[in-house]
Amino acid sequence: MSRQSEAENGTAATEAIPDCPHCQKPLPLCVCDGITRIENRVSLLILQHPQEQDRALGTARLTAMHFANAVLKIGLSWPSLSKALGRPVADPSRWAVLYLGSAKVADLDTKRDIVAINRKGEVEDDQRAILQDIEGIVLLDGTWSQAKALWWRNAWMLKCQRVILGPSRPSRYGKLRREPRRDGLSTLEAAAMLLSSLEKRPDIAETLHASFERMLTKYREFQSAQPAAAPKPRPKRDYRRRRRA
Ligand SMILES: [Zn+2]
Repeated sequence: MSRQSEAENGTAATEAIPDCPHCQKPLPLCVCDGITRIENRVSLLILQHPQEQDRALGTARLTAMHFANAVLKIGLSWPSLSKALGRPVADPSRWAVLYLGSAKVADLDTKRDIVAINRKGEVEDDQRAILQDIEGIVLLDGTWSQAKALWWRNAWMLKCQRVILGPSRPSRYGKLRREPRRDGLSTLEAAAMLLSSLEKRPDIAETLHASFERMLTKYREFQSAQPAAAPKPRPKRDYRRRRRA
């Protein structure tokens, strides 16, 4: 392939850009240098679907890199929470799994933005006591259907506390990556919301959002400087909309 045709071919040009060995993003999008380390009390486990390959705009690895107490695993299923985490867990019910599924905070009778729900999708009785007792968070990283696959393939998640989020503002991705639901957030934003709230530490959200904004700024700069080479945002279109009868 000639140089010119390679330049015209966005995919080839993208593949020629080396990745940062730490965050595994294309180097022009790396924000590793400015990461402020967070000592977190509530543990974080991020399970990434193996087909989630949004190198440019994905946030799972970047999120995990911020926390002293975080584990990122890539795969489809694990036999238990402790196997996924790589250490024993005394009581999985003190771990919260964020899984929206068909549940929506807006449909529930609550003013909270983090809601613990039961297996029937109803609001649990003592929200405050449940959330105060949470010692770890599990986030599912991928598209809507990938998160659904992770949820259904890991039966141990039923022993954990399911939570859903009703964020007061939509995702900071804006037009770069349209979330199919208004309450859909990036993995980084979900971690920011949950950990800063459970630990009552607004600085956690501030630190994560600052990194996210830097990443998005780098993406936009790169996109305007080299439109052909910029990694394309992945359209999130696999959320199945119900057909109107
Ligand atoms: Zn990096």
